[in-house]
Amino acid sequence: MTDLYAVIGNPIAQSKSPQIHAAFARELGYDLRYEAILAPREGFAAAVTAFRAAGGKGLNVTVPFKLDAFALATERTERAEQAGAVNTLKFDGGVILGDNTDGAGLVRDIEDRLGFALRGKRVLIMGAGGAARGVVLPLLHEQPASVTIANRTVEKALALERRFAPFGPEGGDYARLAGRQFDLIVNATSASLTGELPALPPGVFAAGSLAYDMVYGDEPTRFLVHARQNGAAQVADGWGMLLAQAAESFLLWRGVRPDIRPVIGMLRGR
Ligand code: NDP
Repeated sequence: MTDLYAVIGNPIAQSKSPQIHAAFARELGYDLRYEAILAPREGFAAAVTAFRAAGGKGLNVTVPFKLDAFALATERTERAEQAGAVNTLKFDGGVILGDNTDGAGLVRDIEDRLGFALRGKRVLIMGAGGAARGVVLPLLHEQPASVTIANRTVEKALALERRFAPFGPEGGDYARLAGRQFDLIVNATSASLTGELPALPPGVFAAGSLAYDMVYGDEPTRFLVHARQNGAAQVADGWGMLLAQAAESFLLWRGVRPDIRPVIGMLRGR
């Protein structure tokens, strides 16, 4: 029987996950079905129950259900616990395993696809929302020299500093970055969606630095244009992270991590 997977969210029509997983299945020669489920805002658990009853093996979970998925999981990976949100569910008998693949996706994209080694690097994360929170620990695992979190609402950056205190990330506002340089600057804000730029002081891009925007689209984001003009050696948008987090979900479900490189060109610009 063909194995069944899906992405669940509200809205869901914009999701690229069905295309991505279909491409992974083609690449690996797997026979699987991957659907998109629009669940009512108050109907997440019921939709998951119906999906499992239909033989569903795993779900990708998107806005606004990542906290519902966290609560529904009967077991959770450490990275899901640390992120405080679940974007992947795996059904195995009576067990609902909750995982969060966003941080691993970012790290795999940066290290494997872009060839940028994180060890010993000075890392700046802009933003302190759900996306930033999910990537702090996976980035720290790669043993960078430092991780700094800057956010417009400074209390949220300080809350992340406290949450990950044993591992030593530093939180604060953008003004505190004046006079400092970073090797990797990750834009984990949604500013690029509205063409805005976080209040980065001049001179933050170190020689050889990588600027990474989690937002993806057809055109380079304002942050990436700014980064190029201000000394970043390499820039990347969020397509790679989107694909790499999907590949991590695929790995959890099927035990094989697909190669995202053949797929990225196919999706860009669609
Ligand atoms: P949240 O709404 O939880 O957080 C938004 C963050 O952006 C906050 O820190 C907010 O600051 C900051 N922000 C928004 N506008 C501005 C601005 N004009 N200047 C400075 N800071 C700003 O969103 P998420 O954390 O869930 O997601 C952030 C982005 O990451 C989204 O655009 C999303 O599309 C993208 N993303 C991409 C993924 C991928 O696979 N490529 C995966 C996950 C997310 P404040 O606290 O002050 O409001």
